[in-house]
Amino acid sequence: MSNGLTFNETLHPGVQVSYSCDEILYQEKTEHQDLVLFSNPVFGKVLMLDGITQVTTADEFIYHEMMSHVPLMAHGNARNVLIVGGGDCGLAEEVLKHTSVETLAQVEIDRSVVDFSKEHFADFNTRVLDDPRFELVIADGMKFMAETDRSFDVVIVDSTDPQGPGAVLFSEEFYRNVHRCLTPGGILVTQNGVPFLQRGELVTSVQRFSRIYKDAAAYIAAIPTYFGGHMALGWATDNTDLRSTPVSVLTERFEAAAIETRYYTPEVHAAAFALPRFILDAVEEGRKTA
Ligand code: SAM
Repeated sequence: MSNGLTFNETLHPGVQVSYSCDEILYQEKTEHQDLVLFSNPVFGKVLMLDGITQVTTADEFIYHEMMSHVPLMAHGNARNVLIVGGGDCGLAEEVLKHTSVETLAQVEIDRSVVDFSKEHFADFNTRVLDDPRFELVIADGMKFMAETDRSFDVVIVDSTDPQGPGAVLFSEEFYRNVHRCLTPGGILVTQNGVPFLQRGELVTSVQRFSRIYKDAAAYIAAIPTYFGGHMALGWATDNTDLRSTPVSVLTERFEAAAIETRYYTPEVHAAAFALPRFILDAVEEGRKTA
């Protein structure tokens, strides 16, 4: 039963997505952002940072499965993985389902986001934090990427939008540092907004990818709480074959990995790179104007 409170997402000027609130579960003005977790009758627990929906217990599986299994299944032999951002560790949980992954580092700027999720997302957060392969680094991902001498097979940027602390994670300098740290054939995947409403962000990311990587692209997933249609996930790698890994190969790898999913299938993986024309136009504009 709503307590009469509503939370309005104001990411897109002129449009508000309004969530009724049954109960405020946690609220904090952290060192970096305004954090609120509340319960909603449709989406369960809803996490907002600076008034922007980050994750809900009802549809997080879509986002986390597609940000993890697509690069890991396409790569086929990822041992060392990095998450930049990653908040409550929902993405980390999916990555760690791959027994082939030997190390997973998560560089998260805001300790409060991880700390609060130990209580409110304990159903998956505990497993992650107890996994010996997992390493949590509390730092600015930009600074970490500039200074690290470690190398990774897959880097997944699960960040907030390009504003506030997340803005630097969309910079060319950051993408160049990721490229420096990727092993040959390594893959960068980024949270890249909803092209129907955030087209410019996708164009700009692809422009920057194109100046650094041989293959600059994107794939899509339909996440109900990321308002405005398909969400784009940026894709950048020097191995131009990976994006078109055959479904037969993906199926072999997926069956060998024996991972339970609710959204990802090898067919959905392949289809995710078949972009609707208006999204493909944005990607091609980014490549042409790099
Ligand atoms: N998959 C996530 C989840 O389930 O919560 C959704 C996105 S996650 C909340 C985004 C994270 O990026 C936030 O926890 C935020 O603190 C972090 N972040 C933003 N800017 C960052 C930066 N410069 N370096 C590292 N982490 C950053």
